[in-house]
Amino acid sequence: MRPDVFGGRAKCLQRLIRLKMPVPVTVALGFDAVRAIARGQMPDMAAIVFPFGDAPLLSVRPSSLDPDWGGPGAILNIGMCDALHQKLTATAGEAAATALYLRFIQTYAIQVARLNPDAFDFDGRSGLDTLGIALATFEAEMDEPFPQDPAVQLSEVLRSMARTWEGTSARLLRQAKGAPSDAGLGLVVQAMALGVGAGDSGAGVIQFVDSQTGAPRITGRYLGQSQGREAMVADGALFLTRDPRGPALEQQNPEIFAQLQAFGQIARKRLREEMQIEFTISNGALHIIDAVRVPRTVQAAVRIAVDLAQSDVIPRAEAVHRIDVQAVTALLHRQVDPTAPRDLIMRGIAASPGAAHGKLVLTAEEAQAAAMRGEAAILVRRETTPEDIRGMHAAAGVLTQRGGVTSHAAVVGRGLGVPCVVGATGLVIDRRGARVIAPDGRVIHVGEVITVDGSTGEVLAGEANLREAPLDDAFRTLLSWADASRDIGIRANADTPRDAQIARDFAAEGIGLCRTEHMFFEGERIGMMREMIFAATSGERREVLDRLLPMQRQDFVRLFEIMHGLPVCIRLFDPPLHEFLPSDRAGMRDLADGLSLPLADVIARVEALTEYNPMLGLRGVRLGITVPEIYEMQARAIFEATVAVVRGGLSVTPEIMLPLVSARREVQTVRSQIDAIASAVRAQSGVEFTYRLGVMVETPRAALRASDIAQDVAFLSFGTNDLTQMTYGLSRDDAGRFMPAYLADHVFPADPFHTLDIEGVGELLQIGAARAKQGHPSVTLSVCGEHGGNAEAIAFFRAQGFDYVSCSPFRVPVARLAAAQLAI
Ligand code: PEP
Ligand code: MG
Repeated sequence: MRPDVFGGRAKCLQRLIRLKMPVPVTVALGFDAVRAIARGQMPDMAAIVFPFGDAPLLSVRPSSLDPDWGGPGAILNIGMCDALHQKLTATAGEAAATALYLRFIQTYAIQVARLNPDAFDFDGRSGLDTLGIALATFEAEMDEPFPQDPAVQLSEVLRSMARTWEGTSARLLRQAKGAPSDAGLGLVVQAMALGVGAGDSGAGVIQFVDSQTGAPRITGRYLGQSQGREAMVADGALFLTRDPRGPALEQQNPEIFAQLQAFGQIARKRLREEMQIEFTISNGALHIIDAVRVPRTVQAAVRIAVDLAQSDVIPRAEAVHRIDVQAVTALLHRQVDPTAPRDLIMRGIAASPGAAHGKLVLTAEEAQAAAMRGEAAILVRRETTPEDIRGMHAAAGVLTQRGGVTSHAAVVGRGLGVPCVVGATGLVIDRRGARVIAPDGRVIHVGEVITVDGSTGEVLAGEANLREAPLDDAFRTLLSWADASRDIGIRANADTPRDAQIARDFAAEGIGLCRTEHMFFEGERIGMMREMIFAATSGERREVLDRLLPMQRQDFVRLFEIMHGLPVCIRLFDPPLHEFLPSDRAGMRDLADGLSLPLADVIARVEALTEYNPMLGLRGVRLGITVPEIYEMQARAIFEATVAVVRGGLSVTPEIMLPLVSARREVQTVRSQIDAIASAVRAQSGVEFTYRLGVMVETPRAALRASDIAQDVAFLSFGTNDLTQMTYGLSRDDAGRFMPAYLADHVFPADPFHTLDIEGVGELLQIGAARAKQGHPSVTLSVCGEHGGNAEAIAFFRAQGFDYVSCSPFRVPVARLAAAQLAI
């Protein structure tokens, strides 16, 4: 019986029957039969009911390929009618028989005849009177009596379940969960073991692991004189094992309990899965009615997969494969407790996962001040700029009104591991009033607590309950198995010692991108950078850079030490210089004070540096060529740090990367400068070292000319953020303005800054990679844009023969898992 013809439930029941479990007689209808029923072609009912002989009651359950796709609810007690009511009254007592009949009429009326549920809400009433009302109501509504023929009841149940599956809302719901548009439904018809009646009778559900953690623990409920899953919700149901909260099946019926445990063991081993088993005890005999995968959180899924592999039930590779890559991010960040109430203020774009709460602040300075006081702050900005980095670092979470998934706030948030929501377009920031106004008109003042959920994009009022990231032993074990199968390298993008440490802890294989400009925004350095920018001559510029040199050298020493033995790829200065200058008058006045210059000079200099389109202007290697002192200082700092670390007994081969290259000549020009500095440092120190030079492929021209460019370098690293920006001609910082509308109208299938555009940008990557290999067969190829940590993109990069991807440190475990799944 194939699950893609009959569904997972039917397949599972067949296996339980083969395992000789006491499963009542079961008949499975396949997808085609159910489709025919939905079209009104009923199968031969006599053939369907024949195997059940004189079974008094039947149940029908849905059986789709994946249980998560949902489906119509199970319908139990088909066959219940006046005659059987009488019979059961004699064996099980009037109360039980009436309750059963009443519940069936309710279910049938609402789910099958689709009558108004209110008309069948008897508000907990029971007894013969209520039964009479129910039958009369049915007759009044339908103009015919409640069907007494079990075959009629069954065929109506089958028809209604088949039609429900074809309905628009069911279709949309399951497609949202990944079901294909033509997903089929199977139906399982089963004789019911009576849970009401003489002797020990009842029904329950048991599972052997905890749904939250995956740890071994027997949970479930059992209710005497009941059918189906009632026990799970009923007051007074028994616990299964000894429990201080009340009596347990284990004590009341140890034999049955032992049988259930034995069946659980067999199911685990032979079905290779932790199952939740539905059972009925009928006059003292145990029947297994159904078994489904234990519902589970991601944390539990990991624990269960690892435990199954460790007890040799499944191979390790299969354990690695079973985990949903998209879901594991939830394991690496704090989350809003899904069971806690949430007061939603607004929604933006989920930009950096994890949740945090803190007092609302509107400036980076306030965020830092709050951190100094030991208070958590949520930094709310229109958008962030490099000047906000320290504030973002100090903040517990960040919320911006503008921006998309590769805006400054988003990239920095992910790099720092700070939860971040961007593009909250309905938000009004009233700095003067020290408050923000939510789209629904709610006003939140500075100092009031809010929660940002960077995993969902939600912003909540007040302090939501958070859960810690459960990066537990099972997850670590799983990742170590993943690494054994992986065939593409995973590095991390890391700018600071803290990032590097996280990268190391998450077992990244090196740093694939250290964005050095972030180092110039810290502390006193931004002042020096401004001084350097204002220097009138090359000599003055060198003088300021000489003061920055020891700090920069120390930055690299620390990165090399933390990553010792692993490669560290340092990208030379990239942004346009104006990013270091203040944009408002107050800032310019401060700068004039600091540099003892007339305000007019400062304003003039800022204006002179202003570009119409700075992202396409004087930045990256262009700056390296026209203001060579910066790259010279950085190269010297890298080499001197190398010497210091080598002298300390560690080995390091630094990698130096040039951003925004578009022509081979640019590389050659900078290369000779850097070579000269390497020779000078070697001569001065007497220490031999090598380095690897590479370029970032971020412009379409660099991809097209990769064969040429690759000849002068050891590696090419594709910066898919800029490459996407330049391929689309779409500013990554402004995309958030219209992207939501584009996505809502399906103009773009996805945000290309988030999901790699394989058709367009992908073609450039493909051309670039192939041409680079033509020009320089042993050149190393990598990707260091935000797409580097994305599972589908990794599949594409791997297929193109890339050697490694580099992503935010927090994405490293996800990337390790995704890459392993591709190789298994
Ligand atoms: C890129 O452009 O993909 C990249 C990694 O560089 P940045 O994001 O710093 O521009
Ligand atoms: Mg870039």
